[in-house]
Amino acid sequence: MKTLFLALLAGYIIFRSFMIYLSHKGRKTASNETLALKYFTPEEIKNGEEYARKSFGLSVLQRAVDFLFPFVFFFLAAKPLSWTLHEVLKGMGIHIVTLQVLIFLAVYFLCSFIIMLPFRFHFGYTLEHKFGFSNMTKKEWFLYSFKQFAVGTVITAIIVCAAYYIFRRPTIYLWLIPVVLLAFEFIITFLYPYLILPLFYKKSRFKDENYARPMREVAEKAGVKVNKIFQINESKYSKHTNAFFTGFGPEKSIYIFDTLIKTNTPEQVASVVAHEIGHWKNNHVLKNIFLSFAGSVLMTWIVYFTYSAICCYTGSDYPHFSLLDGSALTMSISDIGGLPLISAILTIFSFWLAPIENIVSRKFEVTADTYEIGMGGHPEIYIKSMVQLAKDNRSFLFPHPLVTFWYASHPPILERVKLGESYEKNQRTK
Ligand SMILES: [Zn+2]
Repeated sequence: MKTLFLALLAGYIIFRSFMIYLSHKGRKTASNETLALKYFTPEEIKNGEEYARKSFGLSVLQRAVDFLFPFVFFFLAAKPLSWTLHEVLKGMGIHIVTLQVLIFLAVYFLCSFIIMLPFRFHFGYTLEHKFGFSNMTKKEWFLYSFKQFAVGTVITAIIVCAAYYIFRRPTIYLWLIPVVLLAFEFIITFLYPYLILPLFYKKSRFKDENYARPMREVAEKAGVKVNKIFQINESKYSKHTNAFFTGFGPEKSIYIFDTLIKTNTPEQVASVVAHEIGHWKNNHVLKNIFLSFAGSVLMTWIVYFTYSAICCYTGSDYPHFSLLDGSALTMSISDIGGLPLISAILTIFSFWLAPIENIVSRKFEVTADTYEIGMGGHPEIYIKSMVQLAKDNRSFLFPHPLVTFWYASHPPILERVKLGESYEKNQRTK
């Protein structure tokens, strides 16, 4: 397992660097370029290329720092820090291990947040302003980032505390970890609009009947009862567009980003809603939850065996260790000090398993797109909404096929346009 991990680690560094190079380069073919020019101006195509290739050197550096951080933290700080925490808390007569987990997590996340902050600021603030996406002031941006960090930390802290509680039990209880993750996934998926959304967005009832009517019509046609339509003030943050659905059973609420209304006609917005209905009709949300459960079962065992192989798992809570006496790599999996290593193991295995997840996701998107076109019966509206989506988000039109295969959760825009065109052709021949 240790050799396998080291091989995957080396492969990760080499192959990921190659992928970064490919994603920068993209692949333009004569046929793709002709298709692109049919729907986009050369200026719009160039905009997408510029946005995709923004600050290339810095983005490579960002990824390198992000990758190295857990390793550096593990070798320099994890052991002394977790050991000191353990001793200090013991000295104070406190035996709550969960408290130690929480303090360690806070330090780890805060260090990572501070180190990554200049990159986040450059990509999330400076460049988003330069490309005309963001309307936030500096103060709003910092507040937003800090809120994101806080919410992310709280959610992760609950999961990590649960995981370490389970790590301290006999191995047989390990399967409880995927169960905890599954429960969390359910809660986050269904309670997102009530718990997390209000922390970032203001929602208001959507009143414009010109837009609401086609949305209701398309939903009714699909047998979905639209409960309420809400508008979210994404324009406060950016010009990126989106829409999604919430609710149990056939009764749904639709959430529309106000940015979507600004650049799309009522028919195009209804088409986007039809796509979301397509996901729901085909049970994609539930299927995704089930797949990520299967993924977390696999990951739990991978982490357990890899960590044990690297750290000579002894089973006891706090084996005596010292960074200087050569036993640096002897740390129980239940010691929070091993968290950075677990995070690195997760990063590396997730990278190698990413294509599986993304193949399924792209398949779901094609199904939803097909449903969307069939529902509306107007492939030209579908194509228009796809083209608008690409323009609004300055999409890169010529991603390299290998990069798409590995990373993309959605098919490239031109593939989706082609899907609409072939439907149009079929319609005409009928
Ligand atoms: Zn979709």
